[in-house]
Amino acid sequence: MKRICIVGAGFSGAVIARSLSEEGYECLVVDERQHSAGNCHTERDAESGVMVHKYGPHIFHTNDERVWNYINRFGEMMPYVNRVKATVKGQVYSMPINLHTINQFFGKSMSPAEAKSFIEGKARMDIQEPETFEEQGLRFVGDDIYQGFFAGYTRKQWGVEPSQLPASILKRLPLRFNYDDNYFNHPYQGMPRHGYTAIVENILDHENIEVRLDTKYERLNEEFEHIFYSGPLDRYFNYELGRLGYRTLDFEPVRAEGDYQGTAVMNYPDADIPFTRIAEHKHFAPWESGNFTKTIAFREYSRSCGPDDIPYYPIRLVEETQLLERYQERAAKEKNVTFVGRLGTYQYLDMDITIGLALDVAEKYLASAKQ
Ligand code: FAD
Ligand code: UDP
Repeated sequence: MKRICIVGAGFSGAVIARSLSEEGYECLVVDERQHSAGNCHTERDAESGVMVHKYGPHIFHTNDERVWNYINRFGEMMPYVNRVKATVKGQVYSMPINLHTINQFFGKSMSPAEAKSFIEGKARMDIQEPETFEEQGLRFVGDDIYQGFFAGYTRKQWGVEPSQLPASILKRLPLRFNYDDNYFNHPYQGMPRHGYTAIVENILDHENIEVRLDTKYERLNEEFEHIFYSGPLDRYFNYELGRLGYRTLDFEPVRAEGDYQGTAVMNYPDADIPFTRIAEHKHFAPWESGNFTKTIAFREYSRSCGPDDIPYYPIRLVEETQLLERYQERAAKEKNVTFVGRLGTYQYLDMDITIGLALDVAEKYLASAKQ
């Protein structure tokens, strides 16, 4: 039997490799980086000892029990609830927008019902079906909160006017008229005790899987029965039709003694502050954060992704969507190659969705191979 090649040792590649290897397939997993886990990679910072999320903070959350059971099979998940704060014009508020935020922002002490009708009085109720980010903001929270918390942050994050972005980006965030400040609505949420890389390494730990790090797919000169490609779709085709647009991130480290900001994530929506947020990584591991005397935080700056940068967020505006369709037509003609993951399908995918899709792709492949 010829081998299967899996490009990328992130969650997409690792989960597919595991499913196929358990059914007797020999899998070669290659990744050009020196580590597995892709953008979810975690490692201990040598100076402080803190577990750092190298490519930005990752919080695991899902409503998919299958995915929750899957991740728990490969590592211990510790209780963790994402509670985000935002500094707006020198005041600290609670995120996502909840009753505390609303009362604080307007200097009031309203009940849930009072706050709801107060915000409805400010909201642009004439916008029937919001299509853009801006319409979504104005329709649900009104101009004051929209300008304070969303307009500046979003311009910095995406580099375009919020009126050019789809409403779906803002729909990711809840709006609550109670004091629940959990950033997510999902029933399952947690952080891996030993980091994400340990989990991915456990997924890849199977006798039928060979992992080759520091290896570019383009350099391989072997025959494979099938290829699962979780690298960038446009890169596979040598960027022949042009580059799909991404935002990249720069992380500026801040080192301090003790506790730098007292919480894991502080957003900075103000337009005159160049970064979007500061993440202090020891607070992502509350079960061990007391062990460290030093701390490390990162200021996060977003900018357009150049050819040598790491692609983080796909920009799906009209231009990119048209180019994507042309690449997808090519991809469909590619025999024995399946494009997967956030880069292979050019989509923003959370980890749980990534794992669920990878399980589905592997299942489909196994079913078709049996026929
Ligand atoms: P990746 O993790 O990108 O893995 C792809 C791998 O392929 C990489 O390691 C790359 O080196 C390798 N590769 C690519 N091309 C080649 C090639 N030609 N040859 C060899 N190797 C190659 N999700 C959440 O659920 N919660 C969060 O809080 C969260 N926070 C996020 C924060 C940020 C800043 C970002 C950008 C994403 C966040 N995500 C979060 C999403 C999460 O990062 C993705 O779900 C996950 O990384 C997708 O895994 P993947 O395997 O598809 O891709
Ligand atoms: N957002 C914002 N202000 C905030 C937090 C989020 O304007 O304080 C916007 C921003 O455009 C972001 C989107 O809401 O891209 C979705 O937020 P989320 O926390 O899901 O951002 P991501 O995980 O993409 O960084």
